[in-house]
Amino acid sequence: MLQNIRVVLVNTSHPGNIGGAARAMKNMGLSRLALVDPLHFPSPEAAARASGADDVLAGAQVVASLEEALVGCTLVVGTSARDRRLPWPMLDPRECGAKTVEQAAGGCEVALVFGREHSGLTNEELQRCHYHVHIPSNPDFSSLNLGAAVQVLAYEVRMAWLGQQEQSAGLEKTEVVPARTEELATMDEMEGFYGHLEQALVEIGFLDPANPRHLMSRLRRLYGRSSVNRSEMSILRGILTETQKAARGDAHKRKDQ
Ligand code: SAH
Repeated sequence: MLQNIRVVLVNTSHPGNIGGAARAMKNMGLSRLALVDPLHFPSPEAAARASGADDVLAGAQVVASLEEALVGCTLVVGTSARDRRLPWPMLDPRECGAKTVEQAAGGCEVALVFGREHSGLTNEELQRCHYHVHIPSNPDFSSLNLGAAVQVLAYEVRMAWLGQQEQSAGLEKTEVVPARTEELATMDEMEGFYGHLEQALVEIGFLDPANPRHLMSRLRRLYGRSSVNRSEMSILRGILTETQKAARGDAHKRKDQ
């Protein structure tokens, strides 16, 4: 999922910032870095600042234009250190994290684009982005170091991703734990159900008593891990009863013909 997210650095002048960005990314579980026409890369300074995120640097894709860096993306978010009075859909860093994770989880490719140390992204580059994101810094001193800006957005991506992981773990839990334990079908109700199920399966010709092939044990294992509650049990019994009626009706019809 996180591998669907790429960080794009445009025309970076200081290789140390590339290393800092790589480190920030790896700390937050991101690995895909694209460098648009960097001034110095590869460079020992980048490697030194990456301090262990060498794999991110080694895997970095170096391209000549922003267009190339964005191939395959369906969501592009551009960063801006200041308000450029360019009317564009804006996200705050938190919304950016949520949107990025939502899209990446759906299998879409997402790019977070960062600009030059001295001049940021051009208006033309910003207009290639679906959204702009501004880190709400001190208006009198609004420009963060490039690596620090990557860190903030990568952190928001991670928080959104962790939130999503937690949510899906929670869903799994509710699937296996019934709403109220007192509603669970009792062992004897389950036994009654297995007897009924076996009888119905024989009647419809799905289970051959002469060659049962562990079918009932497998079905017990299946229903046993489903924590069937009482109302679910009555649905299952109802289905079995109607199945038997239908099968018996068909048998009568066949006899009549
Ligand atoms: N003087 C430039 C500053 C660029 S800072 C300008 O005014 O645009 C280098 C890059 O770091 C920016 O292009 C952006 O990608 C990122 N960055 C720095 N501060 C940021 C902020 N407050 N919000 C979003 N991105 C920021």
